[in-house]
Amino acid sequence: SDSHFPIPISPSHVDFSLHFPKFVGTNNEEVSKKVEFADIGCGFGGLLISLATLFPDTLMIGMELRDKVTEYVKERILALRKTSSGGQYENVSVVRTNSMKYIPNYFEKGQLSKMFFLFPDPHFKEKNHRRRVISVDLLDEYAYVLRAGGVIYTITDVEELGEWMRSCLEKHPMFESLTHEELDSDPVVELLCSATEEGQKVARNGGQTFRAVFRRIAYVS
Ligand code: SAM
Repeated sequence: SDSHFPIPISPSHVDFSLHFPKFVGTNNEEVSKKVEFADIGCGFGGLLISLATLFPDTLMIGMELRDKVTEYVKERILALRKTSSGGQYENVSVVRTNSMKYIPNYFEKGQLSKMFFLFPDPHFKEKNHRRRVISVDLLDEYAYVLRAGGVIYTITDVEELGEWMRSCLEKHPMFESLTHEELDSDPVVELLCSATEEGQKVARNGGQTFRAVFRRIAYVS
């Protein structure tokens, strides 16, 4: 349950120097850099590992509910930091938390430029839809922590969930869909399948995926 992990009362109470010792001073002093990418329900961390070298100057964090999975990702990152030459992977970390409750405890208004919701749990039954990580209500929170122009990436192999996530994003006044041209020129889009453990599984089984990528707009006209 939630009592097993610490819950910071606000973003300034998170000691990011523990996550990014090469980038952030103790007690968040000299915070020249803040986390910009959040992978929600990051699982085994494949996406973050790929993004870490693609965006070496950007701090990024995974949020994962399962204790053992979080520990695995921590170990994976520490091992990569040790074995890589040239100080790679210092910009990536993971935290155990319930992202449906505590996103605003970790990120300030407008802090994030990318959020990822990749192959989230489907919660098929109607009465469990409120457990889905994308909903019109939760999008209010995501719009709050995303900056104007920030992008939310979603993908699933469950068609009904794909339609659900897209329709929530279409309904929400603070989000607009990326165009085909924008999707084609964004190097992150192809990683949604190729770099995630879940995406790789779907590809091995020849399954289809359903993607919705939306931008947080600056204002409502
Ligand atoms: N995104 C990864 C991928 O594509 O390989 C993992 C997908 S996995 C099907 C969904 C993950 O979300 C699981 O690891 C699960 O523990 C995590 N999760 C579910 N609910 C969560 C919540 N409320 N907060 C944080 N993580 C959650």
